[in-house]
Amino acid sequence: MTYRLYPGREQVQGLWLMFHGHRDLYNALLEQRRSAWRRHLSFTAQCEEITRLRAEAPFWQKFNAQSMQVTAKRVDLAFKAFFRRVRQGEKPGFPRFKSLSRFNGWGYKTHGDGWRFTPDTDHRHRIRNGTLRISGIGEMRARGRMRTYGIPKTCEIVQEDGRWYASITLLCFPGRETTGQAAGLDWGVSTFATVATAHGGVAQIQNPRLLRSAEEALVQAQQVLARKTRGSRNRNKVRRKVARLHRKVRNQRLDFLHQATAHLVRHFGFLATEELAVANMTKSARGTEEAPGTNVQQKAGLNKSILDTAPGLFLSMLRYKAEEAGAELVEVPTRSLKATQRCARCWETTKKSLSQRIHHCAHCGFTLDRDWNAALVALIYAMSGNGREPAACVRLPSSGAGWHETPCRAA
Ligand SMILES: [Zn+2]
Repeated sequence: MTYRLYPGREQVQGLWLMFHGHRDLYNALLEQRRSAWRRHLSFTAQCEEITRLRAEAPFWQKFNAQSMQVTAKRVDLAFKAFFRRVRQGEKPGFPRFKSLSRFNGWGYKTHGDGWRFTPDTDHRHRIRNGTLRISGIGEMRARGRMRTYGIPKTCEIVQEDGRWYASITLLCFPGRETTGQAAGLDWGVSTFATVATAHGGVAQIQNPRLLRSAEEALVQAQQVLARKTRGSRNRNKVRRKVARLHRKVRNQRLDFLHQATAHLVRHFGFLATEELAVANMTKSARGTEEAPGTNVQQKAGLNKSILDTAPGLFLSMLRYKAEEAGAELVEVPTRSLKATQRCARCWETTKKSLSQRIHHCAHCGFTLDRDWNAALVALIYAMSGNGREPAACVRLPSSGAGWHETPCRAA
């Protein structure tokens, strides 16, 4: 993804200074290798050299350390290519010094280390343009359009005929079958899953009615079975019925899980969901101290037999289907993140009981459906890498938004 940069006059001077600096560094490292090439001076050795250089010469302290390593890496790659050509008996072509016209720029590694890119979102929720901040240079406007959502991964500054560009790679996998959209998932017992998209849309995946009625029939049959005296003929009959219903429910659920996961990876190139904790699922039936679950016995039985296995199956299916489709699935840590308590807008936590279906933030007042908010928190965490700050490319729905106001196609 290439962005055209619009630096101010002073920033242009700063960019040229870095440009010349990196070219000089490239040539110096190349020279060092050329004079020692039979000794195979390694990339690591040259990185140590850079560390020494930075410690001794104040000029280089203005440069980002990682970006200097990137330049050393380029020298390393040039030599690796050279040795490969030698091995293959081709005309080797010794790595050359870069003249100003043959040098095109420098690069950065980790987002946040020496550079930060913040994309803008336009009124149609498309991510376009943005701001690039480079340490030692400052903030510059960047024009260009991201085709897919993603986390900025690496950045290269390229100069061409006095124009400056930033080539930014994104951590996302548009894939063959997916649209490249991003979504967060929250799953529960009553609603199978809530899907929140990065541009404010939402959808619910309901348990299919057929499956629900089969599950209810199973629960009833189990209750009948429990009342029958052990060893009676009648009990055997009921037992067979329970077994049959069990198979039916299992097959229907399997079918549903296949469909739901295929659907998700078809629609989304980036999915975030809580990592699996079975305890979370069974807890739902017992409820909490403030809000004890209803029909605890019945639900607990059902959870034990069916629901326990569903999230695990769902997640493993989602994993391999995402891999097949080239979509990325990020599993966020449930316990430390506390997605149901955390606010998608201000990132503070507000304690709420299981019966509170609405998230109402005690800190910033943000109000949203509980599951929708939780799905967004998972998504923001996954997209920002660590969740310390909200991902710029997630557009939050307005506070108090209802389901039908922002539908998304994925339902
Ligand atoms: Zn809040």
